[in-house]
Amino acid sequence: MIGHTGKNILIDTHCHLNDPSFAASMEDVLGRSRGNGVIAFIVPAYDRASLPTTLRLAQRYPGEIFPAFGIHPWFVEGETTEELEHYLRCRETVAVGEIGLDFAPGTPAVEVQERTFTGQLDMAVRLGLPVLIHCRKAHNRIYDILAAYKGRIEIVMHSFSGSAEVAQRFLDLGCYISFSGSVTRETAKKYHRCARRVPLNRLLLETDAPSIATQTTVASRVEPWHIVEVAKKIAELKGLSCEGICNVSAANALKVFRLEKAGLKI
Ligand SMILES: [Zn+2]
Repeated sequence: MIGHTGKNILIDTHCHLNDPSFAASMEDVLGRSRGNGVIAFIVPAYDRASLPTTLRLAQRYPGEIFPAFGIHPWFVEGETTEELEHYLRCRETVAVGEIGLDFAPGTPAVEVQERTFTGQLDMAVRLGLPVLIHCRKAHNRIYDILAAYKGRIEIVMHSFSGSAEVAQRFLDLGCYISFSGSVTRETAKKYHRCARRVPLNRLLLETDAPSIATQTTVASRVEPWHIVEVAKKIAELKGLSCEGICNVSAANALKVFRLEKAGLKI
């Protein structure tokens, strides 16, 4: 049951509370988030070093911080399958991520990125976990790869950066589309059109804290409670109440990440 307290409930489906910049202020950051109705945080690892630190963080805040484990395309290196599988099999784990492809200049070789990406998708199928997808300048390629996994895994397109038309292709694959602070910027017309297109049953909210600036914050200083600004903007774009957007997106998050089974108390 969601919303029975009469308060908005929010779930940040992608925030890096495992970023070293949060270490000294964790209690304050969590306090501000709780005070704004954020009841759960999905925290994705991104490189090898962040695997153990992300698990420790989740164990420190059970039922509130839920870990995902994966190697981000910027950090693909060597063989990590066995180590990753160890973390993915932990009972706290709710997803594989973040994983994906990034074809911006200066990123690792495409073949290495793709090999690591598909290896992690296969692991998600085997373990029955949803995936958190990072996709930059790679929508066509990612679409082709994910099409082969249609119906076999739950897919979340994190901080979606494509057009409404591209979003529709991913929706047709059955994906969830997650919006971050980038949708709150007044000039981000492409994201606004995209948010209007995504149906309520596929909508997720996130901050990608500390990285993605909102209209009123600067990048690197974003905290999970800024998800309120994301929810308000989506509500405005869709002409719906903020409470409705909070609750429906939280319900989607509960479902895709099976958070109640993972220990979330509502
Ligand atoms: Zn991220």
